[in-house]
Amino acid sequence: MSFFVVEIALPLPLRRTFDYLPLPGETPDHYRPGQRVRVEFGRQLLLGIVLSCRDQSDVPANKLKPLLARLDDTPLIDEHSLALCRWLADYYHHSMGEVLEHMLPTMLRRGCELSEADERVWLKTADEPAKALRGSKQQALWQLFQQSPQWPHSELTAQGFTLAQLRSLADAGLIEERQQLPLPPVIQENQRFHSLNPQQQSALKALEPELHHFRACLLEGVTGSGKTEVYLRLIEQVLAAGKQALVLVPEIGLTPQTVRRFQARFNVPIAMLHSGLNDRERLQGWRQVSEGGARILIGTRSAVFTPMPDLGLIILDEEHDASFKQQDGLRYSARDFALVRAHKAGVPIVLGSATPSLETLYNALSGKYLHLKLSQRAGNAKAPGMKLHSILHQPLTAGFAQPVLNAMHKHLTSGKQVLVFINRRGFAPLLACRDCGWMAECRRCDARLTLHQYPPHLHCHHCDFQQGVPAVCPQCGSHQVEGIGQGTEKIQDQLAVLFPQVPVRRVDRDTIRSKQAFDNLFDDIHRGGPCILVGTQMLAKGHHFPDVTLVVVLDADAGLFSADFRGMEHSAQLICQVAGRAGREEAPGEVWIQTLYAEHPLLNLLLDSGYHALALSLLQERQQQQLPPYSHMALLRSECEDRMQAQQLLQQARAFVQQWLQNHSGASWQAPVTLLGPFPAIMERRNGRFRFQLQFYAAERSVLHRTAAALVHFLEQHKGLSKVRWNLDIDPIDT
Ligand code: ADP
Ligand code: ZN
Ligand code: ZN
Repeated sequence: MSFFVVEIALPLPLRRTFDYLPLPGETPDHYRPGQRVRVEFGRQLLLGIVLSCRDQSDVPANKLKPLLARLDDTPLIDEHSLALCRWLADYYHHSMGEVLEHMLPTMLRRGCELSEADERVWLKTADEPAKALRGSKQQALWQLFQQSPQWPHSELTAQGFTLAQLRSLADAGLIEERQQLPLPPVIQENQRFHSLNPQQQSALKALEPELHHFRACLLEGVTGSGKTEVYLRLIEQVLAAGKQALVLVPEIGLTPQTVRRFQARFNVPIAMLHSGLNDRERLQGWRQVSEGGARILIGTRSAVFTPMPDLGLIILDEEHDASFKQQDGLRYSARDFALVRAHKAGVPIVLGSATPSLETLYNALSGKYLHLKLSQRAGNAKAPGMKLHSILHQPLTAGFAQPVLNAMHKHLTSGKQVLVFINRRGFAPLLACRDCGWMAECRRCDARLTLHQYPPHLHCHHCDFQQGVPAVCPQCGSHQVEGIGQGTEKIQDQLAVLFPQVPVRRVDRDTIRSKQAFDNLFDDIHRGGPCILVGTQMLAKGHHFPDVTLVVVLDADAGLFSADFRGMEHSAQLICQVAGRAGREEAPGEVWIQTLYAEHPLLNLLLDSGYHALALSLLQERQQQQLPPYSHMALLRSECEDRMQAQQLLQQARAFVQQWLQNHSGASWQAPVTLLGPFPAIMERRNGRFRFQLQFYAAERSVLHRTAAALVHFLEQHKGLSKVRWNLDIDPIDT
């Protein structure tokens, strides 16, 4: 074979690929797109991905370096995934090498072998022992193999069996040791199926004909309307057709309850991928799914990248949830990517939500998506009654109005649970001096420090800066330094005094640090009995608390007047999610929202007519203002310790784009891209860096993308302000 080079993608921010010489003696046949190779880049050793072989290179022959090693014969990234990576790199204007990193679990990215996912397992190799087993432990062990012919070693030792006991069964020819990929256990519970109610039935009927080709569907169903039940029916059909199902849930939606519900229903191996796993478990999950052993994958955002040879259906629950958008590096939306993936794979995708994002709702209303609705709660549960309670000029006890406390008392004495929602962690949102007005501020951010009591300290929730609580005011020396306002900790303390007879549990990032703590809390709550739960967002999502009948929303007002044009949309979604926790079983639920603005027209629209009506009204506003989804948006952010430079880079970017648009526009192409800014981010200084943003809006997506591509090219070549970090966010969800 004559001269050729291998084109490699490297995990670097540079938006280009690199040519290397092949290994000695290898021909182009040895190289296939998606294989991993090791290369030297400058002084670093990097792991790259083969993209192609070419018979010439732009690099002069004497500058070309040889590859150091080729790690795979069979590519780890298949053609289908490579095509998706190309789409991601193009759409998000990101480097292909960094996009490809998302396709592989960490261990494979470090160069490990796929077989490192293997574990020691024991297989049953005989039906009957030749002679009776001695010892009760051995008999117990053999009993286990009667139940299931295959056991991971770790599971047996966790049950108290020793290696010696296993060896003696092996010596008797009953079992055998093997290295292999453990599949998730199949749990059969013979769970009773609900017969679907008429709304669920018609949703299912409408979806069934769409199971064999690409179709995007929105299942808009109030919380508790039985959306999950519909997903389960669809998955049942997909499995029966020999296909795999991908189920994506928000970051904190993957609770043991969710998983159990799937496990109890299907007797196939179900893999899970989420942030709570270690690297090896991730590799195992990835391999179980990509080799087809696991038939269902339930996972959070990044699970969307897992290859599935028999993919037949994608379900994305709580599609409006912000955790589906990655906020750093490759700023992708798992929802939008899942739609593209479904399209390219020719399979249906069902987006589910009680409170769909305006983008999705717009697509459903315009007929692009199949739009199905579930307007009533399934089973016997009734939708909760929602009430705005004005606290204007009202005396408050520990932040609560008296009628609200009375309602709490009523629900608790009838043995029910009460959920108090407040979106602020800590004891008090700020520490201030009564005498001179000094406030504890973060030295690195434009933010106040939050006072925490357990243990006492000041904490910046934006950069993680922590310090002790000063005994006297650093400004005037006064001793009158105290916490002002309320956070979850303070409310927990005060409620414990007001309701001494019931436990008060706090659920926020500070109390729930581990998955275990989360699980324990849920088990406690499910045991029932009156209690008060005080929590943040964490409590709002997807959980099923059968005994919660009253939900109190303490601070709905903050979101009503946000500087972000999505503020009202997000507040309404949050209120509905929290409210959805009330009265999920037989007992009817109530929701009380304390507010200073009981007359707020949009809040009233939400309560009187529901989320859908509010969303329609918000869509009208967006249309008038030509905001997304009626236009497409991108955001260029800059960050620098030097305020001037952060701003300057964006000014130069703006000047470049204006010039570029002028050069590329015909006379008829009027203001195809609207530029806003640069202006400071809502929190201008964070972690010691000043932050600015430049916003781009365009009626046509293709124009926005051409502009963005030119801009990224300009910024990469731009050497003047090298200290400024920048990133481009396509379809940003927070501005
Ligand atoms: P969603 O996903 O829309 O919040 P779920 O599917 O979790 O709703 O259903 C809410 C509750 O109603 C669950 O406890 C579920 O078991 C129950 N449920 C769902 N469908 C039915 C039905 N057809 N009949 C009776 N109960 C149902
Ligand atoms: Zn002072
Ligand atoms: Zn800070």
